[in-house]
Amino acid sequence: MTAKRTIFIMVDGLGMPSSGWKKSFFDDMSTDFCRLLDENSSRCRTDMGVQGLPQSATGQTSLFTGVKTAASIGSHLPGFPGPRMREIILQNNIFKYLLEKGFSVAFANAYLKYNLDELRNMSLRSVTTVMVESAIGWVRGLECLLSGKAVYHDITNETASSKYGKVPAISPEKAAQNLLSISESHDFTLFEYFLTDRDGHKMDMKALKRHFSDLGRMVVEIAKGIGSSTSLILTSDHGNAEDMSIRTHTRNPVPLMLLNTGIGSLQETRIEDVFSITTRNFNNA
Ligand SMILES: [Zn+2]
Repeated sequence: MTAKRTIFIMVDGLGMPSSGWKKSFFDDMSTDFCRLLDENSSRCRTDMGVQGLPQSATGQTSLFTGVKTAASIGSHLPGFPGPRMREIILQNNIFKYLLEKGFSVAFANAYLKYNLDELRNMSLRSVTTVMVESAIGWVRGLECLLSGKAVYHDITNETASSKYGKVPAISPEKAAQNLLSISESHDFTLFEYFLTDRDGHKMDMKALKRHFSDLGRMVVEIAKGIGSSTSLILTSDHGNAEDMSIRTHTRNPVPLMLLNTGIGSLQETRIEDVFSITTRNFNNA
């Protein structure tokens, strides 16, 4: 048996709305995406048994390493990983794990502001940047973005167009096609989206509407295009945007959407289980 190719989308700050997807304000932003989430996602707890609001450094490290990070250090750590989280990431992460088993991996996000050498010297590096830097050793830049071999963090290149010159804006559907084409030559392809978290902190419903709609159009197009040989996994590091009445993260469960994974429906999972769920197909290969 060969492993299915996998596309993994990490959406920062997207918890499950208490009313359910179809009755939430998200349904007005992207009905088709809400239907996909409603039919294919289960509740994933992000608290790791630790009090306080789940945060990005511990949440993302847990997602991509399988370590119950917040429990092992006794608290949820926000933002960028510090030395202890970096140590956990360097020891084992989804890229390193799959590369060591002989699979090919891609981080699809385009880096336009800094190159890898500049990033190496920065103390504030995201979880995925630490993973990419240590396991893959190169990042996709402007050339990749222009040739459709990378996806910008805002999906449509809208913010890249104004900041970095001639980057044509694209539709979310075109971004989906680009992500699908990257995944065709890799066993595992990761894309990270964080504007949902930013909108939640700003309580900016207008921006969230645009961003969730773009994200939804991209995900729906990917779901249509994956065929039987590719799995699609989408999840988040913690809640936030599902409750626009507060500026903070939430303890709500996040969706764990599994399409084509062969795993079937799950009742409730925990963020530290996502690594083993994601690698299941690869371990059975
Ligand atoms: Zn946040």
